Amino acid sequence: MALESVIIAGGGMAGFTCAKELRARGFEGRISIVDPEGIPYDRPPLSKGYLLGDQDATQIRLIAAEWFDENNIEIITSSVVDLDTETPSVTLADGTVREADKIVLATGGTARRLPIPGGQLPTVLELRTRADADHLRSVLTEGTRLAIVGAGLIGAEVASSALKFGAQVTLIDPVDPPLIPAVGETLANRLHQMHTENGIKLITGVPTEISVDNDGVHTLALADGSEVIADVVLVGIGIVADTVLATTAGLDTDNGILVDLSQRTSHPNLYAIGDTARTRLEDGTLLRRAEHWEHAMNTGATAAAALLGQELPTHGASWFWSDRHGVHVEGVGSMLGEGTQVIREQDGVPVAAFRIDGEGLLAGCAAIDGGMLVRAARRIIDKKKPVSAEQLADPAVDLKKLAR
Ligand SMILES: Cc1cc2nc3c(=O)[nH]c(=O)nc-3n(C[C@H](O)[C@H](O)[C@H](O)COP(=O)(O)OP(=O)(O)OC[C@H]3O[C@@H](n4cnc5c(N)ncnc54)[C@H](O)[C@@H]3O)c2cc1C
Repeated sequence: MALESVIIAGGGMAGFTCAKELRARGFEGRISIVDPEGIPYDRPPLSKGYLLGDQDATQIRLIAAEWFDENNIEIITSSVVDLDTETPSVTLADGTVREADKIVLATGGTARRLPIPGGQLPTVLELRTRADADHLRSVLTEGTRLAIVGAGLIGAEVASSALKFGAQVTLIDPVDPPLIPAVGETLANRLHQMHTENGIKLITGVPTEISVDNDGVHTLALADGSEVIADVVLVGIGIVADTVLATTAGLDTDNGILVDLSQRTSHPNLYAIGDTARTRLEDGTLLRRAEHWEHAMNTGATAAAALLGQELPTHGASWFWSDRHGVHVEGVGSMLGEGTQVIREQDGVPVAAFRIDGEGLLAGCAAIDGGMLVRAARRIIDKKKPVSAEQLADPAVDLKKLAR
């Protein structure tokens, strides 16, 4: 039976891309996106330009609001509260039931809370939505003592942004330096040092309890017995994939909704994409669940192709970026695993890191202010082009030429 209607639960990058791709690939049937946040917007600016006030709510929309009418895509500002896999249908927050031929789950995740006493306090903040960013901006003023737990991507970005408000920032992470799996040890060290160079207090430690007094001042007790006093506490320790609907509906889940390479869940009527989905290969191997913007986009496009019975698009090695302290970081492939780590320096400063795997092929690359280099490295990875450690380490070697 030809596909006539699709409901997408969640209008983040994944859900939006799926709808856009369905239309781009010629689908003329009904598309509805259900999201309590309404018109889809982009999350990366929430810790960068939007938090700083350089971009407003309209500027971070994934596309102009009119585009949805022009493309006959219905935006339902509500939540999906229940799923029926057989009909199939979704129940919205007001009890309305909507049927469609296929349902795509693109519900992302919720910010992981600290599993310690005080970790659930409403004054312990998280950053996942535009409202979270609005609130955070409203409490960041000159001299605000901001404690951030988690110095990975979002924590580090907020720490850097908060300095522009004149906040006194303390960044706490159990690992020194964080991000080794993403960028390798050398660049992770350089990035972590930038925090201190910019006036942020770094603490390697584990919070064991958070309390707040009547004046709203927080005390974070750390495992080594020390304390951090803060007016504002933000926790940035990753997300928990939103699997509640899927689990209730009987879909296979395991730290994410399990999908095959076409983003299909364990039920043929349901697909899952973006942060909430986790790939299970045919032999049962579970891949690591990605929490990156481009992955959300790619999986949205794959699901659209699969829903229409079209050839699945191929995507290159996974890619992410981060911005902090005026530098732009990008990474591609995987820096984690066996093999050789190679560092490229410019004037004695490490600017790029590479991993050559056990078979002698480039498996991962990360760079600071080296977007072109990372793009070239991605082509080398995707094409499995042989490159030597000497070439990668030499700043005079143009990776673009090696990628041809
Ligand atoms: C502050 C911040 C900064 C980031 N910076 C970067 C970066 O620099 N680089 C990078 O690569 N990635 C970054 N990311 C990660 C990236 O934004 C995510 O990987 C991406 O947004 C995932 O898209 P998604 O569509 O899967 O999920 P989401 O963007 O989380 O969207 C899920 C949507 O589902 C909706 N929803 C949830 N439950 C329901 C329900 N029951 N019914 C209906 N709708 C529901 C939510 O309202 C939400 O709009 C950042 C994320 C954040 C929060």
